[in-house]
Amino acid sequence: MREFKCPHCGQLSAFEASECNGCTQPLMFDPENMAMVGVKSALECVNRNIIGCNWCAVATTPYCLSCSLTQVIPSTQNTQNVSLWTRVEDAKRRLIYDLRRLRLPIASAGGFQLAFEILSDEHGPVLTGHESGLITVNLAEADDVQREIRRVSFREPYRTLLGHFRHEIGHFYWNALVHEGGFLSPFRLVFGDETENYQAALAAYYARQDWSDDPTSHISMYATSHPWEDWAETFAHFLHIVSTLDSLAGLPLSLDARAQHTLNDPYLESDFGALLELWAPLALTINRLNRSLGLADAYPFDISPAVKGKLHLVHMAISAFRNRHESRAAR
Ligand SMILES: [Zn+2]
Ligand SMILES: [Zn+2]
Ligand SMILES: [Zn+2]
Repeated sequence: MREFKCPHCGQLSAFEASECNGCTQPLMFDPENMAMVGVKSALECVNRNIIGCNWCAVATTPYCLSCSLTQVIPSTQNTQNVSLWTRVEDAKRRLIYDLRRLRLPIASAGGFQLAFEILSDEHGPVLTGHESGLITVNLAEADDVQREIRRVSFREPYRTLLGHFRHEIGHFYWNALVHEGGFLSPFRLVFGDETENYQAALAAYYARQDWSDDPTSHISMYATSHPWEDWAETFAHFLHIVSTLDSLAGLPLSLDARAQHTLNDPYLESDFGALLELWAPLALTINRLNRSLGLADAYPFDISPAVKGKLHLVHMAISAFRNRHESRAAR
């Protein structure tokens, strides 16, 4: 994600900033205009004082575009819950920003209304997942220790809150982009037959003894569990790629004209090849930077030719959906 400018003094401000680093004026992010604004220009989201939400309220509600999608929150009597909920909403605002940049519909798509519930597992197990538009997030995923325990036990190289959101939203859009979007036949060719029993496939995945899958056919081990999971994993990676390329846009790099064109708006780059051409050296570089800092690879994945084909289909389905809706709106 690129940097934003303070409307008062022009200083660059991070997406999460509630105050300018330069002039110390309070700031809000306006997701309608995708810009930082002063707090006098609109109402603040009422969650600003509870979880530090820095977005403007939508005119019809006391909440912002992101907070208004959260239907259930954990008990705020517990201060630990409040700090974990804060992290969940921080990641969710980045997701909503991605969707705005991709110009995908947010409230409803493919016959589903989008909503979120953030549940604490203190009263019973909570499964992070998607069901008919409702995305459930286990609050424990915001706890670094808990999330790392799960990451290691599930043999995953990468597990983040933002990654969860980008995966679950892939399930949400599948119907609109693939099923209704006319991509069912290519989907089945590239990802496989999604009519395979989903519950049975997941149960078989978790009961699996042999974890020696061919790493060239899927972006992650979990993607091998079912074609829908493969789509959701690949969709998440598409968002990782365009969002990270967008962060590169602010750096003073000398790039050729084609690369600069991509960085004007990676979310709307129509040439998939150009996107990947820029991503490959960047992914290598962020991993090398992390290693230089003694950290694990930031992007611990290889994009094989098969995965490239899958990412390309995600890109085509998003572009086709956007073109269809925007040409309908223009008529
Ligand atoms: Zn300022
Ligand atoms: Zn909010
Ligand atoms: Zn999933």
